Amino acid sequence: MASFKPSVALNSSHLSGSSHQQRASGEIHVFIGPMFAGKTTSLLRRIKSESNNGRNVAMIKSSKDTRYAINSVVTHDGVKFPCWALPDLTSFRQKIGEDAYEKLDVIGIDEAQFFEDLYDFCCKAADMDGKTIILAGLDGDYLRKSFGSVLDIIPLADTVTKLTARCEVCGKKAFFTFRKTAATETELIGGADVYMPLCRQHYINGVRVESAKVDHQSSCLEPATLAI
Ligand SMILES: [Zn+2]
Repeated sequence: MASFKPSVALNSSHLSGSSHQQRASGEIHVFIGPMFAGKTTSLLRRIKSESNNGRNVAMIKSSKDTRYAINSVVTHDGVKFPCWALPDLTSFRQKIGEDAYEKLDVIGIDEAQFFEDLYDFCCKAADMDGKTIILAGLDGDYLRKSFGSVLDIIPLADTVTKLTARCEVCGKKAFFTFRKTAATETELIGGADVYMPLCRQHYINGVRVESAKVDHQSSCLEPATLAI
């Protein structure tokens, strides 16, 4: 079998194709899990620790999520961090400015499931620009189906951590987000008023109970509500 021999020396200056100094290579770290699993808390802890180590950090969240504050990432237990609230990730570089972007070492992304351009942004920021990306997002929606592009990032990631919450019924580990209302849109922003974390057994029981309730209630409900 022929050995691989590049015809052009693969040194860093060739790969970067520019006069940039050699950059530290980027990294991507992902926190996934259901709601109330401490994803934002874990993200903030990592971002603060990077910042304490003297690295330049910035935090981005979706402008769709205005539950707690517009320009802060806030955990369910009230810890805050200033952030850029944006409709997409592509606009970040322009918003923060070229110089500021260049100086950034670490970019945190919260509620990553809301960004449609997540894959392209992370790929470029880590591979080309040498940034460390730390992101948190829901892997699944309330139907336990893939949510947004979060799962697309896994092949790009250095590390993936699936966090768990506590089942609201039995207190065991909860892996799933249960929606308490009959709304069926995938993106329904809400907190404990709309969602609760459940273990597998109670998630399945909950779906049965809700379906039975809908069945019983009447024929005027749309068939789609049975899908809760
Ligand atoms: Zn349970």
